[in-house]
Amino acid sequence: MTTISDNVQATQARLNRACFAAQRPGDTVALLAVSKRQTAEAVRQAHAAGLCAFGENYVQEGLDKIAALADLRAVLQWHLIGPLQSNKTRAVAETFDWVHSVDRLKTAQRLSEQRPEGLAPLNVCLQVNISGEDSKSGVAPANVPALAHAVAALPRLRLRGLMSIPEPADTLDAQRAPHRALHLLFDQLNAEGLALDTLSMGMSADLEAAVHEGTTTVRIGTAIFGAREA
Ligand SMILES: *Cc1c(COP(=O)(O)O)cnc(C)c1O
Repeated sequence: MTTISDNVQATQARLNRACFAAQRPGDTVALLAVSKRQTAEAVRQAHAAGLCAFGENYVQEGLDKIAALADLRAVLQWHLIGPLQSNKTRAVAETFDWVHSVDRLKTAQRLSEQRPEGLAPLNVCLQVNISGEDSKSGVAPANVPALAHAVAALPRLRLRGLMSIPEPADTLDAQRAPHRALHLLFDQLNAEGLALDTLSMGMSADLEAAVHEGTTTVRIGTAIFGAREA
């Protein structure tokens, strides 16, 4: 039987191969384990196998898991990667280390106001609707610069970069195109004076494409934890 520990090792090996193929040093891409709909025990196993950063999609599920793993709080980093409604910002500002899914100034303002003084500023990425899908959350590429500059000015947030969930595609070239577009936008923002260091792109199905296009953080669920319950 394959264990989570086997999967973590296999995923790290896959990431190293992708970095080698893209002529990048292996330690330039962080592995964020997406633990949505997985148990706290599964997170414990992934941590025992060497992982420290975990991504959750649903606020309440994430809060419950963080509480169940309170003994590991100092050594784990918790990232919210799913949609965030205004009425849930306080709990997120008080509990998580990162939010990858900021796509409105109002949400960012609330997170900044609600981030407790005793904690480091909350790390945030803007979620960009890079494939222009109607159904997807995320800010339209044309509106990213204005939002980025406004978010970067908020005192209790630290704007780290951009995140996207492109439309699924079958070939490597088709997978690379949206990642390349996100990277260009990221370079544009840095040329405008922002100091972004995070490109959160690439999941189990398109990790290699994302590594080729300069990702700094891949978000991997299935390849580490196996299939999720429906
Ligand atoms: C579920 C999810 C992932 C992980 O997807 P896998 O295909 O299981 O690797 C990554 N990012 C976001 C935003 C997700 O919702």
